[in-house]
Amino acid sequence: MISIRGLTKRFGETTVLDAIDLDIAAGERVVVIGPSGTGKSTLLRCLNFLDRPDAGTITLGDVSVDVTRASKKDALALRRATSFVFQNYALFANKTAKENIMEALVTVQGRPRAQAEQRALDVLAETGLANKADSYPAALSGGQQQRVGIGRAMAIGADLMMFDEPTSALDPEWVGEVLDLMRRVAERRQTMLIVTHEMQFAREIADRVVFMDGGCIVEAGPPGEVLDSPQDDRLRRFLRRVA
Ligand code: ADP
Ligand code: MG
Repeated sequence: MISIRGLTKRFGETTVLDAIDLDIAAGERVVVIGPSGTGKSTLLRCLNFLDRPDAGTITLGDVSVDVTRASKKDALALRRATSFVFQNYALFANKTAKENIMEALVTVQGRPRAQAEQRALDVLAETGLANKADSYPAALSGGQQQRVGIGRAMAIGADLMMFDEPTSALDPEWVGEVLDLMRRVAERRQTMLIVTHEMQFAREIADRVVFMDGGCIVEAGPPGEVLDSPQDDRLRRFLRRVA
């Protein structure tokens, strides 16, 4: 369903993504691990053109884009086929939980407000936050804010949901409820690309674990192989550090 070929991104002289090849099947859960500064966030951001890649092709469902020639329309098509959960939630502080979820439904998807509102309320019920619909982010715990962030991504109904260290900014007490919600999303066979340092969660949820280092995919495979019998020295060192 998703096919990435030769995806390359440079910041100035630095090559941050070095010709990444990656395929993700429909319904597959892929977890990306690796040291910080290795290009994990950049990979996710390039897939929906939050960062503009310098080379490569991205095929997502029936949209196939040569990134060097991508038009505004192509970028928009990729953005519509993906949703993004940020480490720092990235909620609008001046909008309620419900309004945060409605925003993209109205402005990007062009849905009528009443329909967007109903969808937002349905999603809030699914995330266990029905009673927080009219609360502003400042009145919510970190865990609740991130559940709104995930609800916003769920509401879009994108082919690919991407999560960039969704629990890294949370106090430990809120991590469990966010991972639980992600498990529920996964149970629907939602295609997911997740950057996380939660190794136990990775082991449990991933169909495939991808280890990145220095802008390259160094090793990839089922969690049992990658996490239990790592082949590459860099992966062995990384796993010792995060264990
Ligand atoms: P990770 O998510 O694996 O920690 P990132 O994708 O955030 O890594 O960053 C990879 C590298 O790209 C880092 O060296 C970082 O400093 C650099 N980088 C990321 N974003 C920018 C940017 N907007 N401008 C310049 N350098 C950047
Ligand atoms: Mg990152």
